[in-house]
Amino acid sequence: MNVHDSEKMVGVLKKDGYSQTDNLREADLIIFNTCSIRQKAEQKFYSELGRIKAIKNERPGLRIAVAGCIAQQEGKALLKKVPHVDFVFGPQNIHMLKDIDIHVSTNVFLEENPAIAEHDLPVNREDDLRAWVTIMYGCNNFCSYCVVPYTRGREKSRPSQNIYGEVNGLAKRGYKEICLLGQNVNSYKSNISFSNLLRQLDRIGGIERIRFVTSHPKDLSPELIMAVKESVKVCEHIHLPLQSGSDSILHGMNRGYTYNDYIGKVFTLREKVPDISITSDIIAGFPGETEVDYLDTIRALKEIEFDGIFAFKYSQRPFTKAAGMQQQVEEHVKSERLDEILKLQDEITIRKNRALENTVQEILVEGLSETDKTKSSGRTRSNKIVNITEPNIARGTVVDVMITKARKHSLEGRPVGL
Ligand code: SAM
Ligand code: SF4
Repeated sequence: MNVHDSEKMVGVLKKDGYSQTDNLREADLIIFNTCSIRQKAEQKFYSELGRIKAIKNERPGLRIAVAGCIAQQEGKALLKKVPHVDFVFGPQNIHMLKDIDIHVSTNVFLEENPAIAEHDLPVNREDDLRAWVTIMYGCNNFCSYCVVPYTRGREKSRPSQNIYGEVNGLAKRGYKEICLLGQNVNSYKSNISFSNLLRQLDRIGGIERIRFVTSHPKDLSPELIMAVKESVKVCEHIHLPLQSGSDSILHGMNRGYTYNDYIGKVFTLREKVPDISITSDIIAGFPGETEVDYLDTIRALKEIEFDGIFAFKYSQRPFTKAAGMQQQVEEHVKSERLDEILKLQDEITIRKNRALENTVQEILVEGLSETDKTKSSGRTRSNKIVNITEPNIARGTVVDVMITKARKHSLEGRPVGL
């Protein structure tokens, strides 16, 4: 989401006459687009910001802006805390960049912006094959560990005709894959439902693949599962964050489902959409997580067998309910649990990937492999990277590939019938 927000920032500034540079020493304006989902992301930002100070000392005319969730979280206080920062603007105020006057310092744009979903910003896309498309902003779920509802504000969905227009335009410009973006895409609420939005976009010629992130388990409806099944271009992959396998922890997290609810949905997904790849997020060491709760998560991972997970140590976030909970788990316990979770999932991932050996997969080719220039590289519909023993396949081609070898992070294969 932040990558796409950055594409919007560049879009707004280019329209205003700016050009982009990778050279910090020639920039008039440097924007940090920040993430505050975990403390580690924040630490990285502050150390980068510290390094920039030397450049600002050399060239006092240089302006430094902080955008994104840390900007929203810290607000004006950031200007006091880090005096070499000139502008602070939150994720709902990207449009204000067009009014930024780099000759004037110290401006703060942190207002809730109810019009965010109605007014589309220009986007300067980094990729010419795959495009992010925002369908909704903000989040209303208030999971007790999460800072997002405080930094990105309340949910607002974009009108479906704007989304349709954007995707149609992308198809005309040669884009083959779109990924619909939102903190909770399946609570999309506009003139039509999310399922019908998928069905509508499925009819746009030229687009080969449609993906969406992220789905919330509590809002995963039978209609959505049928839309995934019946829409030709909607890929057989869902990212469905479980967070924990323990009901008492899920309750403390305010996730709105039990482990049984979740596994029931996994069962339906696999029944209706055979070969669907399911990936997830797991948090290790949420406050009050006992050894028994942690073992429930281990059991869940073994039972569900995700294709892959992102797992994180719980991190205390400002404003959130969980930050004030008693029984915070000790850091070393969180680390040990996280290590075990990742180790177990690695074994499961490789096993799942091996099951694809000797099958034929449809690959959208992205270009030469980054690690081996004698090969092309692309992705399966289930979003797994495949390196193909043929370097001359044009970017954007869809080819059938026989999978010959499975690794943890990628597969290898040879084209069928080329
Ligand atoms: N809205 C999406 C969802 O509910 O899955 C994505 C939210 S967040 C950007 C992505 C992941 O970060 C979450 O699924 C969660 O696992 C993790 N996360 C959020 N807050 C966290 C925290 N305080 N500590 C550790 N992990 C966190
Ligand atoms: Fe955060 Fe929960 Fe909203 Fe996802 S659904 S952004 S985890 S509050």
